[in-house]
Amino acid sequence: MNGCTVAANGHDPYYIEYVQDLSQSGGGPLDPDTEATQQTYAAAMLAAGGCIKATEALMNGEVDAALCLVRPPGHHAGVDQARGFCFFNNVAIATEAARRCGALRVAIVDFDAHHGNGTQEIFYHRGDVLYISLHQSPFYPGTGTVDEVGVDEGAGTTINIPVPDNTRDQHYWRACQELIGPALSNFTPDIILVSAGYDAHWKDPLTGLGLTAAGFYQMTHFALQTAQHLCPGRLGLILEGGYHLPSLALSVENTVLALAEEPMLEEEEIPPPLHSAQAERINQYLDHAITTHRRRLNLAGA
Ligand SMILES: [Zn+2]
Repeated sequence: MNGCTVAANGHDPYYIEYVQDLSQSGGGPLDPDTEATQQTYAAAMLAAGGCIKATEALMNGEVDAALCLVRPPGHHAGVDQARGFCFFNNVAIATEAARRCGALRVAIVDFDAHHGNGTQEIFYHRGDVLYISLHQSPFYPGTGTVDEVGVDEGAGTTINIPVPDNTRDQHYWRACQELIGPALSNFTPDIILVSAGYDAHWKDPLTGLGLTAAGFYQMTHFALQTAQHLCPGRLGLILEGGYHLPSLALSVENTVLALAEEPMLEEEEIPPPLHSAQAERINQYLDHAITTHRRRLNLAGA
């Protein structure tokens, strides 16, 4: 893949050239968290190219599902800005690849612990791309409120579900059942892409959420079943964050097992029980997001 291809995928061509020049001249900072090295441009191009290949294989019916284990991650990268360890937005690039292969509507589900502000920015005005994000709030990058719903043709195609620290597997499951599933059914995508970040794991050192590897198995299984129901199984997962390496490995392994429709790995340390005040706070966040979005989208039973 070259810079022109990336430019056709949501990024400003001058920004791509800038990353290329900076990287090839030895590297340097693009954002306080995001420093390019001499190898960054090549690595980011390989990551984006891998996601394009996987998406083309999904759209052409060559594979049933795909998991792209790529680095650097992408969901914070905006139209012309590197942020939060991300240079090029892999899931946005995959979305455009799916569109070129004939997908009329693409849904992106982002379960990374951080809000995918880059992905939201790129598709905020687009009615053909549904972006759904579950993320810790208040937290980096500070975006992703329930009220950010898209503009113009994209009004209604951004769904943010901010949750407080300590949110657990059962809360994500509730969001899947009561909001994400119905919203996907309502949108009728031709392919579902997932920004699969594993930093919502309870052991992750950068975040404060409380998921387990079993929770990632459950969400992957849910995504697979939803894709089988809505868009002949076309499901592509793209790696985002995940900073506790043993938990990342276990969670990715469970993701693969869910995609293969094999039983999950059972042995796992689980987080300490929630206090009642924490549980109440989490449910308040969820009640607000689920009720507001269901009413706004006029989902059945709202
Ligand atoms: Zn993250």
